[in-house]
Amino acid sequence: MLIVPEALIADLVSPEDAFTAVEATFAAMARGEAYNFPVVREALGEGRQYGFKSGLDRSGQMLGVKAGGYFPGNAAKGIINHQSTVFLFDPETGRPTAMVGGGLLTALRTAAASAISIDRLARTDAKVLGMVGAGHQAGFQLRAAARVRTFEKVIAWNLHPDMLPKLGAIAAELGLPFEAVPLERMVEADVIITITSSPAASLMAAHVSPGTHLACMGTDTKGKQEVEVTLVAAASVFTDEVAQSVSIGEAQHAVADGSLDATSIASLGDVLIGRHPGRRAAAEVTLFDGTGVGLQDLAVAAVAVQRALERGIGTKVEV
Ligand code: NAD
Repeated sequence: MLIVPEALIADLVSPEDAFTAVEATFAAMARGEAYNFPVVREALGEGRQYGFKSGLDRSGQMLGVKAGGYFPGNAAKGIINHQSTVFLFDPETGRPTAMVGGGLLTALRTAAASAISIDRLARTDAKVLGMVGAGHQAGFQLRAAARVRTFEKVIAWNLHPDMLPKLGAIAAELGLPFEAVPLERMVEADVIITITSSPAASLMAAHVSPGTHLACMGTDTKGKQEVEVTLVAAASVFTDEVAQSVSIGEAQHAVADGSLDATSIASLGDVLIGRHPGRRAAAEVTLFDGTGVGLQDLAVAAVAVQRALERGIGTKVEV
């Protein structure tokens, strides 16, 4: 088994690698060659969450699990709130093949999913990017979005305004003007990314203009919510995996109250393989419910392992 520690990941896997790997994974899921196992997610109390996301990709020869969770007290200890490790196994024998630090990989694969949705579903003339959220994931989201559209400006809102300057610094690095705005100003955005750990909707239908693409990335657990139900119900909803979207994703609330029919939720993979046309009209509001699937984690971990083997780095152990 090869151990690839967190510290090596940045040199092994780029955002472009993550985009390519996640796109291939979503397409394999749509073709029925890969599937995710049911998610285990437990509340540990005091806002801590822990769980397991796993799956099998026959086409990519990947079997494995990401074990990890969200620990809101970590930031005060100088470590990130998201903690995770990916374990890969030989799909033929079940033997463990790798243990890979999952922190940066989680951010890269989550930003890649969001960017794939923007690439495929946002209007091609999108100019203003709206950010709702300014935590650890938000910077990765902003960078990935800027790769797939030529934005002219970033506007951002966060419940905790003191976190916004850090996001503004990333926008500046990308050469994009940045403005902190009240939620009402999100009507100016062509693409809005929500990436918060909110338990109740912040972004309301009145904050979103026709033709906007929403990438809702923060809701990955039962009980979280970033977007008003009426907004989800009125949008064309896409997701990484329908089973997760209706149970732990942003669509859970609209499906539960009957305002969204689960069968109307399309998979982004279907758009990638040409089975779904994606956006149908310039005025349509498209919404990607990015719940985060185990296969995304395996795909980016497999890239890290492949590169580490090529370069002869990482630590080999017998188990
Ligand atoms: P973080 O702790 O660094 O940041 C949390 C963000 O949520 C901040 O912007 C904070 O201001 C905001 N926030 C906190 N409480 C809020 C509230 N009550 N209302 C509105 N906003 C609130 O976390 P992070 O690592 O940036 O992760 C953000 C979210 O994304 C988490 O919910 C995490 O579980 C989720 N996530 C999803 C995926 C996926 O694949 N979909 C992957 C990674 C993380």
